Parts: sequence; structure tokens; C-alpha cells
Amino acid sequence: MEKLQNYIDGVLIAPKSGKYIDNYNPSIGKAYSLIPDSDEEDVQLAVEAANKAFPSWSTMRKEDRSKWMMKLADLLEERLEQFALAESIDNGKPLWLSRSVDIPRAVSNLRFFATGILHFPSEAHNMDGHAINYTLRDPVGVVGCISPWNLPLYLFTWKVAPALAAGCCVVSKPSEITPMTAYMLSQLCAEIGFPKGVFNILHGLGSKVGSAIVSHPDIKAISFTGGTATGKAIASVAAPMFKKMSLELGGKNPVVIFSDCNWDKMMKTTLDSSFSNQGEICLCGSRIMVEKNVYEKFRDEFVQKTKALVVGPPLDEKTKLGAIVSKPHFEKILSYIEIAKQEGGKILCGGKAVKMSGEHSEGWYIEPTVIEGLPQNCRTNKEEIFGPVVTIMPFETEEEAIEFANGTEYGLTSMLWTENLTRTHKMAAQFKSGIVWVNCWLLRDLRTPFGGMKNSGVGREGGWEALRFFTEPKNVCVKL
Ligand code: NAD
Repeated sequence: MEKLQNYIDGVLIAPKSGKYIDNYNPSIGKAYSLIPDSDEEDVQLAVEAANKAFPSWSTMRKEDRSKWMMKLADLLEERLEQFALAESIDNGKPLWLSRSVDIPRAVSNLRFFATGILHFPSEAHNMDGHAINYTLRDPVGVVGCISPWNLPLYLFTWKVAPALAAGCCVVSKPSEITPMTAYMLSQLCAEIGFPKGVFNILHGLGSKVGSAIVSHPDIKAISFTGGTATGKAIASVAAPMFKKMSLELGGKNPVVIFSDCNWDKMMKTTLDSSFSNQGEICLCGSRIMVEKNVYEKFRDEFVQKTKALVVGPPLDEKTKLGAIVSKPHFEKILSYIEIAKQEGGKILCGGKAVKMSGEHSEGWYIEPTVIEGLPQNCRTNKEEIFGPVVTIMPFETEEEAIEFANGTEYGLTSMLWTENLTRTHKMAAQFKSGIVWVNCWLLRDLRTPFGGMKNSGVGREGGWEALRFFTEPKNVCVKL
């Protein structure tokens, strides 16, 4: 079995302990490679390398930092097909999706921040000619970047790229469940001779190497994307150390559909926002609220179209939903379907695991599932399932829709479908979420603030927000 390695100080190396853990291919349900079971000794090595590299990287001309990142982006783009295949094998997502979304977006993340830093402004405040203030923005230092398994290289580069562009040195950790493309990225870094120690990638468990990154005193900021419970654990360690923190956490996102919407566009996009990437996107809409006068029409058409979605092996061209990322996650999703039944939910379609044939017979697959008849205030409608499971429910008024939509502890994104302009603006202002998509879903401009309210997170990523996070502002006041 292939053994992945850590990337520290510009070199691909084994973990200090010599220990490895299994990495699974979810489409066949079997281990297919080994990843370093890194610990605090590896973190120490990476932090030392990053500290050593920081003076030259942080003072390097922005144009030169940018060139290194563009070089990495170019090579990644050249190897897109190889990376897309690896991502699908590692995560279980359809190959067409890795090829059209995950890897191209990773390339865009690198390019976006490599060029963004060249235009990053700082402020000046003139005090009526008596004094002038200007703000210097210096890189924070050595930072930790920790990412989840659902969009592996896409989210890994989303945090690493602004950190590097800002002049920080990085100690990073991809999810132990999907480590492959971050490992391959480290091979590209080694191939182009990316400056030593600037970008370090460690593999292993969150509870071990992840928490060693969070608690290391030389790591000045933590950028984390993952579950809300993990975010809480990280904050409890990092906050008393006064580290800067950006936490992008879970969601339980509402989709609010009015009868005056563009029906066909809504239907097509709502199928995507429900089941893309097996429903394993923090931005998926999992609670669908439909205006009462069209509820039955919606239900019948949505269920019929959901039934037609093909669940299959990730490398099969016809596959719309691939494999669920891991056995524990597969079991968690099925257990939530049981909870929904106990809570009185009616399964309109799906609800079961799918048994594939041949080499995929041990893989983890679940039918796209639509449930109705549940009250707003039940576990199925309040807790994040993070799989191909949605509930549908009718509403009568705008006020009721807003109350349902905002009725969870999460606040990542909300989707609104209406052609009514006044209602659009009125309701957009009332959603308690960091993002509101009107008549669309997952339409991303990388300059916009990205993140959630309430238990969906602290801080924002994207555009200047990310570059501000990885820099420390210092105001200089000069009396004239
Ligand atoms: P997770 O919290 O289990 O793990 C995320 C990362 O944190 C992994 O790399 C893991 O190894 C690491 N980790 C775990 N415990 C740690 C600890 N104590 N200290 C440091 N690191 C630790 O999340 P997951 O299961 O990989 O991802 C799914 C979750 O991520 C869902 O809740 C989803 O909503 C959320 N998510 C949020 C966003 C967003 O932008 N808000 C995007 C994608 C996923």
C-alpha cells in the first residue's frame, strides 16, 4: 500500500513515530493507502521550519511570493486530471464533480490570492491636517490551517492560499479521511522547489496532530473549517492563548420557495442544493420550505426527480451521487433517517443504503432521501446530518417562513426563491445567516465575505477578509 508522507521544511518525510493509519476508498469500503499518524514531535519540527522561513518569506517582495503561488497553481492545473481522479477515489465524490469543481477551484484559490495580495490596500486617516494615521499590515507569523474532508483540496487551498499570500508561514493539516490531494500538492511543492519551511503539511488525527497545532505557542492564528463541536474544542484551547481564530463550522440551511419563483430553475437548482456531493457540503439546503399553495405540486415533482438521480461508483460517468466518505459517516446518516422515522417523518423516497455489485459491494452508498411531515422543532430539522437527506414542509406567510428558516442554532446560508423584488430585499435582511442566495445556489465570487453566524462560525473568509485575518494591523499616528 502507498505510504503518504509529511512535508516539512521542503522535504517529504515519514512521521517521527514511524506510525501510520489506514486511508479508505469509500467506493469499495477498503483501505488503499497509509497516512502518517503524526504527533506533537512532527508539529514541533514543522513549527521550527516555519519559524526559520518566516523572516525571508514575510519580507519577500509580494510579486515574488505571488510568482511562487502562480507556479504552484499552473502545475496543479497541468495535473488536473490526475488530481481529480485522486480526489474522487479518496472522497467518493463523482469524478465529473472533482474535475469540474474541486480541482479547478483549488487552482482558482491559489491564483485569486496570489494576485489579490498585489492589490491589497491599507487605510489612511487624515486628521484635518493636524496629523495623519496610516495602517501597516504585517503577516501574523506562523499560522495553523486545518481543513475537513468534504471538499478536500478546495477548502485546504481556500485557507492556505491567503495565508501564504499575506506572508505567513503555514503548518497545515488536511482531514485524515481525505489526505491524498494535499499530499499530492506537497509533491508539487517539492517538485518546483517551493521555498523551504514556508508551507508544511502534516497528516494524521485531529485529536493528536490537529490539537498539537492548535496548542503550539508559536502558532499565532488558527484557520479552521469543520464541525461545530470541533470548533468549540479548538476555541477552548486557542482563545485563552489569545490566538486569532477563523472558524467555519456546520450548517442546517433553509431553502424558502415562493409560488412566484421561476419554477424550472428552482427545481433544478434545489435538486443540486440538496444532493450535490452526496449532500456533504456545508452550504447544502437541507430544510426545504414551500409556500402552501404549491406545496403538493413541489413535493410530487421533487420526489419524482429525486428518484431519477443515479447513485453509483464515483468513476462511473452516469453517477450523480457517489459514495459516502466513511463508514462512521454512512452509519451516522442512516441513524438520522431512523430518528426521522421515530419523530413521525414520512419517507417519500430513499431512506436506505444502496448495495452495489462487484468490487463496489462493500462501498458506502445511500439513496437520496426526502422526508415530510416533521415539525420544525425536532432533531431531524435542527441537527446537521450532512448527507443526502432533506425535509420538506409547507408555510403560509413570509413571517412564518423566516421563523422556520432562522429556527436552528446554525446560520451559515439561506436560499430564497421568488421573483418579487420587494420581498427579496425584505427577507434577505431578516435571514440570520452569513450568506443569502436568491434564485441561485453556490454562486461564488471569491471577493465576497464567506462564513456563518451563530454556531456556524466566527469570522469570515474570502477576499480582503482573509488577507486581513492573516495580517496584524498596526496604526501609525504622525502629528504634523
Ligand atoms: P471535523 O470537525 O471532524 O474535522 C475537521 C478537521 O479538524 C479535520 O482535519 C480533523 O482532523 C480536525 N480536528 C478534529 N479534531 C480536532 C481537534 N481537537 N483539534 C484540531 N483539529 C481537529 O469535521 P469534518 O467531519 O471533517 O467535516 C464536516 C464538518 O465540516 C461539517 O460539520 C460541515 O458543516 C463542516 N464544514 C463547514 C464548512 C464551512 O465553510 N462553514 C465547510 C465545509 C465543511
